Order: sequence, then structure tokens, then C-alpha cells
Amino acid sequence: RIKGRYMTRYAFYDKAMRDQMIEEQMIVRNMEYALHEGQFVINLQPVYEIPSKKIIGAEALVRWNYPKGPIPPSKFIPIFENNGFIVRLDRFVWEEACKVLRAQIDAGYNPLPISVNISRLNFYSQDLLEFLQSLIKKYDLQPKMLKLEITESAYMENPHQLIAMVRAFRGNGFSVLMDDFGSGFSSLSMLKDLPVDVLKIDMAFVQEVDKSSRAGAIMESIVELGKHLNMDVVVEGVETQEQLDFLSKIGCREIQGYYFAKPMDKEAFMGLVQRSQDI
Ligand code: C2E
Ligand code: MG
Ligand code: MG
Ligand code: MG
Repeated sequence: RIKGRYMTRYAFYDKAMRDQMIEEQMIVRNMEYALHEGQFVINLQPVYEIPSKKIIGAEALVRWNYPKGPIPPSKFIPIFENNGFIVRLDRFVWEEACKVLRAQIDAGYNPLPISVNISRLNFYSQDLLEFLQSLIKKYDLQPKMLKLEITESAYMENPHQLIAMVRAFRGNGFSVLMDDFGSGFSSLSMLKDLPVDVLKIDMAFVQEVDKSSRAGAIMESIVELGKHLNMDVVVEGVETQEQLDFLSKIGCREIQGYYFAKPMDKEAFMGLVQRSQDI
């Protein structure tokens, strides 16, 4: 009997799993409404150049201001990657990033480029490049102002499609960043085939440099590799002065991390850009 089957399966779940299922259902039930009601917003986390300590750009990161309390991306992004909603949410985030680029120009600033995350699911939509181009046109921007962050998972699923996409993006003036570099299984073979502009080294490496000389040696080698391949290297997740000192020592030039700035709302970011450009 069906009831009996459910009972047996039910016995496998402990309380934590049950809570997680309930939370997941809550997220799926609320996502459309939340997007419609403006509960999703972007934060911007500045990227700094060292040693000048100048702000040179930012990454757009989505936030869900759920009325009962914020829900972190680590909870909802995997769910939206499963049910496909990430395709729409990403596009919303890209448009919000374009608005911030437009606002910088309208305020008379020298606009700092913003990078956006592109879920691997978006690579299956035929109109991805067209959509990005329509945004650039709508907000009257240069494609180089919007940087596209991709991850290894997209490559592992469909290398040929991703290589073709990256070529098309770059051919049309967009920069492409490889996010979380070094965290996957095929980082080096991917690098061989994929002509990206920037490597963003996974947070795990910098957060270990104090504890492990191996992590440090790997970081140093990636920075060197970037130079040889004519790619910029960004290190994300920098939290301490010691980590910063190490990165300066090995010749790393671009940094994103709590040590300099946490992700902040649009208004705070605009203020920061303004102050950085005051003479
Ligand atoms: P990511 O793209 O690698 O973004 C960097 C994450 O590291 C962000 O977490 C950022 O807040 C965090 N971070 C930056 N500096 C530090 C630091 O010094 N220490 C620590 N502990 N963390 C730091 P966040 O915003 O929670 O996002 C997590 C992930 O969710 C992102 O990783 C990205 O994979 C995904 N994500 C966020 N926004 C979007 C989006 O709009 N679209 C898609 N597809 N994914 C997104
Ligand atoms: Mg990213
Ligand atoms: Mg990353
Ligand atoms: Mg990540």
C-alpha cells in the first residue's frame, strides 16, 4: 500500500533533512512572487588593486531580502539551478548591474566595470549573447564594462559549447572571468582550451596560505601562470593583513575580500566610487 511505502521512506529522513525539505519547498513557493515584489536585490563587492589600494571594479552578488529574514545565496542558488529559475534571476541581476553602470556614468564618474555571475544553465539558452547585447544597448554601455563570470561546472558539462560561447562573448567585446579557479577537477585542461581574460582564484587557497606553504606555492604559481598566459589574476576571499602581505609579495595585483570591503548595497557602492574619484 502506498501509505506504507511512504512511511518506510519517511523513516530514512532525520529532522535536519526534513527541515531542509520544508525550507526548500518554501523557497520554491516564494521565488516568483519575490522576484515580482523586488525582494531580490544586488549587492556590490569592490575589487581593489594593490599596492595602490584603489578600487578598480566590483562583483554583483544577488541577495534575497525575504520579509522574515534574508536568505543567503548558498541556500537558494543550488535550488534555482535545479529548477531552472536561476536563468531568470541571473538576467535580473545582470540588468541591475547595468543600471549601476548607467548610474555611474550619469553621475559623471569614470565607470568601474562590474562582473556578474553566469549560471551554467544560462549557457543552454540560445539567446544568451543576444540578451547581453540588448542590455548593453538599452543602457547605452560598452560591453567591456560588464564582465562575465563563468565556472568550471559549465565547462565540464559541455566543453565545446562553452568554448564557442566564450569566443563569441570576447569577439563581441565582453571580458570573461573564470570564477573559483582551482576548485574543480579540470582546472588546467580547461585553461588550455578556454581563452578567458581573468582568473579568479578560489577562496580556499588564500584562506590556507597562513597554514599551508603548499597553498602559498600554488597561489604563487597561478599568479605566474596568469602572467605567462596574459591573463589578469584576481584573488578573492582575502580577509587578513597577513594574506594581503603574502599576495603583495608574490606579485598579485587584484584583490576582492572582506579585508577591503564586504558586499554592499548600490547606494553605498555609488558613494564609494564617488569618494574614490574625488580629487
Ligand atoms: P562567488 O561568485 O565566488 O562570489 C564570491 C562569494 O564570496 C560571495 O558570497 C562573497 O560575499 C564571498 N566573499 C567575498 N569575499 C570574502 C571573504 O573575504 N571571506 C569570505 N568568507 N567570503 C567572501 P555570496 O554572495 O554568498 O555568494 C556565494 C556564491 O553564490 C557566489 O560565489 C556565486 O557562486 C553564487 N552567486 C551569488 N550571486 C549570484 C548570481 O547573481 N548569479 C549566480 N548564478 N550565482 C550567484
Ligand atoms: Mg563570482
Ligand atoms: Mg568565486
Ligand atoms: Mg563560488
